[in-house]
Amino acid sequence: MNTKDLVGIGIGPFNLSIAALCHDSPKLDVAFYDKKPSFCWHPGMLLPNTFLQTSFLKDLVTAVNPQSPFSFLNYLVSKKRFYAFLNNDRPAISRYEYNDYLQWVSQQIDYLNFDQGIEAVDFNDGHFEVHLENHNQPIQTRNLCLGTGKRPHIPSAIQSQYDKERCFHAIEMANQQRDFSNKRVTVIGGGQSGAEIFLHLLNGYDGAPAEINWISRRSNFLPMDETCFTNEWFSPNYIDSFFPLPANTKYNIVDEQKLASDGISESTLKSIYETLYEKRISGDEHNYRLRPNRDLINAYPANGITLEAHNKFDGTTEQYHSDIIILATGFENAVPKYLAPIKHRLAISDDQQFLLGRDYSIQWDGPSHNKLYAVNAGRYSHGISEPQMSLMCWRSATIVNDLLGEDFYDLKDDCSFVEWSNSQPFEPHAHKISA
Ligand SMILES: Cc1cc2nc3c(=O)[nH]c(=O)nc-3n(C[C@H](O)[C@H](O)[C@H](O)COP(=O)(O)OP(=O)(O)OC[C@H]3O[C@@H](n4cnc5c(N)ncnc54)[C@H](O)[C@@H]3O)c2cc1C
Repeated sequence: MNTKDLVGIGIGPFNLSIAALCHDSPKLDVAFYDKKPSFCWHPGMLLPNTFLQTSFLKDLVTAVNPQSPFSFLNYLVSKKRFYAFLNNDRPAISRYEYNDYLQWVSQQIDYLNFDQGIEAVDFNDGHFEVHLENHNQPIQTRNLCLGTGKRPHIPSAIQSQYDKERCFHAIEMANQQRDFSNKRVTVIGGGQSGAEIFLHLLNGYDGAPAEINWISRRSNFLPMDETCFTNEWFSPNYIDSFFPLPANTKYNIVDEQKLASDGISESTLKSIYETLYEKRISGDEHNYRLRPNRDLINAYPANGITLEAHNKFDGTTEQYHSDIIILATGFENAVPKYLAPIKHRLAISDDQQFLLGRDYSIQWDGPSHNKLYAVNAGRYSHGISEPQMSLMCWRSATIVNDLLGEDFYDLKDDCSFVEWSNSQPFEPHAHKISA
């Protein structure tokens, strides 16, 4: 049986980027699988007027191969929208457009396979065996790339109330028709998704709620820091400096950098503020409450669902009675079930993080030339950029170079202005001493 060079599990943007770069190197024999019937990027959060938090130039391929047929610019030209796109002059592209671009790429690559979930992965006789749902014969491959994303985080205080209708995660929001008319709706979470959903509710896209509460643990509805020096954390240079640091140091740094990736876009904050302001002018302003600084402590069925929250600002306890609760509470790591047959051979930390090498492969006790690369898994090994799309294409090229065993893509980058580590000792220029 034919043994592949690489099998990619999951086709989200991250593995799609690797697949698009593999197209540049015909000598690689690769296949990618996803359980979805076709490509769609977080369909449950494809809400109207939501925008990418990343430049369209940081697409699947451009940073390492601007001549690739899969660039965003080629997409625009192919769709005959190039001039209209420029005339539109938006600071960020919509998530609809980005999803349309990703779908356009996915339709052109013949080694992507949809409607084929992965059930299990094993390792025998020098290769991985990838078992597809509803297939008897496993696929054989020398290397794997795990790209199955993260799991929605459901806070323990509310787990007993969780269901798909009344108390659900934000990622499910648009997966079914919703009608919030005359309902008391509470949104939990002060990041970008919470903000987008709060705005969506204020605008009455799914009916006019009787009441809208927005609760956040954070001290305020805080913006994402998108300034230039903060953005240097999203550069290849930074990863080179960050990777060798001790694990504890890395954890502290990443936690301190939270608002560089998890804050709310300034444009979303502005839209919310403007909407509230307009409501105040029209006198239509009494059905919403913005409540930062609250820790969720309990949830139980009474008067709809009753939530109890601790107000960290004044130390009181508050109650919210809700018909609908939307959890914009982010995502967490989990070792995918399909890895069960080989999980004991992988290096995994107590908090379910894979221990990754510099080449994004998981440390394991198998042969070193059989690699399990993992994307969206290295926040605490490679840095804050890992779950984001900023360096997606550069990471993909790092993996493809590693697979090929050569510098197929030139990934050297020395345009950072900040020196993070002490690798280049300061050598002052000799001063001229004037007589
Ligand atoms: C709403 C939202 C907006 C975001 N916006 C931005 C942004 O603007 N900028 C930015 O940098 N980052 C953004 N992110 C963060 C990040 O870039 C995205 O989450 C991105 O989709 C991660 O890509 P991924 O390929 O790792 O995973 P995913 O997109 O989650 O894809 C994983 C895929 O794996 C498949 N899968 C799962 N299990 C199996 C299995 N057993 N077999 C086969 N297939 C399987 C799933 O069907 C899915 O298609 C956003 C995240 C969210 C949730």
